[in-house]
Amino acid sequence: MTRLLIIYTGGTIGMTEGEGGLQPRPGWLPQQMERLRRPGLDFDVIEYPNLIDSSAIRLAHWNMIIRDIAAGYDAYDGFVVIHGTDTMAYTASALAFSLPGLGKPVILTGSQLPLSHPRSDGWGNLADALEAACQSDLHEVALAFDRLLLRGCRARKLDVEAFRGFGSPNYPPLAEFAISPRWHRQRWLKAGVPWAPRLLDESVRVAAFFLTPGISAALIGEMLADARLDGALLLGYGCGNAPDDPALLAGVAAASAAGCPVLTLTQATHGAVAVGAYAASAALARAGAIAAGDMTPEAALAKLSVLCGQEPGVWQSGLKTSLAGEMSLSWLPKK
Ligand code: ASP
Repeated sequence: MTRLLIIYTGGTIGMTEGEGGLQPRPGWLPQQMERLRRPGLDFDVIEYPNLIDSSAIRLAHWNMIIRDIAAGYDAYDGFVVIHGTDTMAYTASALAFSLPGLGKPVILTGSQLPLSHPRSDGWGNLADALEAACQSDLHEVALAFDRLLLRGCRARKLDVEAFRGFGSPNYPPLAEFAISPRWHRQRWLKAGVPWAPRLLDESVRVAAFFLTPGISAALIGEMLADARLDGALLLGYGCGNAPDDPALLAGVAAASAAGCPVLTLTQATHGAVAVGAYAASAALARAGAIAAGDMTPEAALAKLSVLCGQEPGVWQSGLKTSLAGEMSLSWLPKK
């Protein structure tokens, strides 16, 4: 018998039509889930008292999920987190970094159309998530969506129209669900450190800045210098390029000197930041910015949110390592 814990946080999947449009209906989704029971599988459902649209997600919600997984860790064989799609990739990443040493599957899912809709994609997503959560050798946080199983800290929401709402542009799927699931076990994380879940420090301040032509480089520089952040992401052009705007470089240097890591990422969907490929990225690196390789913005934000709340100095070593398979080894900075 496989025992799963299903944590229902909100999102379109459990919404029904009410006055003023779709809204969560407490108690409704757990009732629907009964349809998914089968011999050999037992599950319990925790429905959060405040079902949210995932655009409202905060660090406190991530801590609730971490607490529930940690509390149920010995009693259950796997976990499914039902979540809105808008920020599912952020939550998947936050869980991946907060659950080091995970030895059981944690699978996030949701849907583009609610289960209450006759053409809902939710049934297939839920069924695939349950199937993935039953794989005892899957020791990572993953996201089940539209017949794909993606590494959580590689996933991105790429489409708001199609049922194929998610992709992981820099890492191939962990599984593909057809009539029989194709489990790509050779891509799964191998056991590493001992199981040691940890809560996030909810006071950590991490922000992302998206560079655009015009005034933005200077404004971002001013904000970096002033914002008293614990960590920052700078989404640059192409391979991580940015104009050598004096205010931007001064902001990066001031933040870095104050102990706030500034990670550079690319605005492109696929590929990585390659410092030194163009002279336009070298000045940023000299000012102290750290290349985030092929990490997604969602994973980078979650990684900083987790690392910057730990003892001083932890982020320095954490950023030089792929902690949960979030980054291809070839892009890791030299130690
Ligand atoms: N706005 C919804 C949410 O993220 C969208 C969804 O679930 O698909 O909660």
